[in-house]
Amino acid sequence: MPDPTRERDLAAAADAGIHLIALPTPFAVGRVNCWLIEDDPLTLVDCGPNSGTALTTLENGLRARGHRVEDLQRIVLTHQHIDHVGLAQILADRSGAEVCCLDALAPWLATFAEQTVVDDIFSSALMHAHGIPEDMVLVLRSVSASYRAWGASVAGGVPLTPGGTLSFADRSLRILHRPGHSPSDTVFHDEARGILIGGDHLIAHISSNPLMARPLDSTGATPPQERPQALVTYLASLAQTARMDLALLLTGHGDPITDHVSLIAARERGHERRKRKIAGLIDQGPRTAFELATAMWGNIAVTQAYLTLSEVLGHVDLLLNDGTVTEHWSDDGVVRFSAT
Ligand SMILES: [Zn+2]
Repeated sequence: MPDPTRERDLAAAADAGIHLIALPTPFAVGRVNCWLIEDDPLTLVDCGPNSGTALTTLENGLRARGHRVEDLQRIVLTHQHIDHVGLAQILADRSGAEVCCLDALAPWLATFAEQTVVDDIFSSALMHAHGIPEDMVLVLRSVSASYRAWGASVAGGVPLTPGGTLSFADRSLRILHRPGHSPSDTVFHDEARGILIGGDHLIAHISSNPLMARPLDSTGATPPQERPQALVTYLASLAQTARMDLALLLTGHGDPITDHVSLIAARERGHERRKRKIAGLIDQGPRTAFELATAMWGNIAVTQAYLTLSEVLGHVDLLLNDGTVTEHWSDDGVVRFSAT
């Protein structure tokens, strides 16, 4: 049954010349939202995973608006995740469209295959350091390798500078870097219309998990001791977005958002609650992040090990920064957290 709120918000986007084309993905998150901006140049924001079904669905969506893939003139990427970038090179090859992405992301995407190998080394070392058993690390590594085929490299990406603008005949979009969900999250602000195209920075129906990722500019696998603080970064990005005056936020998954200020406040309260719960567990005695994840989520800590590890580490980072928790590295290279 059509949801009247969703229909109203999509109609508002369409009034601004921005049309939703949702593409299937093989991932738990479900469909990914691509946004077609009918302006000069004809632009597609995000492009779905590298799969035949996604491409066919995109072709049908474009045809419904009277366009073909070959008509695309510009492709804009909101971040590095494969459900958003996988088809970019195929679409660019067919259309000659330029592919625009955050300046720091362009060299990363050009060497996608090499980068994902280093990503796997980083995430395996991180899982070891935080007490995830060896056999689970191996299974996760092969799952992650099998996902790679839904991504693809993008050559010659046009680098976008944060603070700059992306110009069209009928609008200009301010380019803003909002890292946290991933290191490359980029949002596009139409100040005149109060519209933000936000990728996965903020999603209505789920919390945008800040996944542990190595910095885009790192040449090798960042050692676990130097992991970036993804949730700390994410909360700072959310605070910046909360100060914006927006009528409509078009997201990378799910429905558009019209109340970003209260949604961000709810997300902040949720993270505060989770931080207190994890602090309570650490109060009971030194724990690894995997033990904390298991205490929090039981079996989900096994089936979604990297996601739950990222969740725990994000909140532990808040406690480490507060000075209420310290970390101890044992001789076998495993970290335990304890209350100060
Ligand atoms: Zn994402």
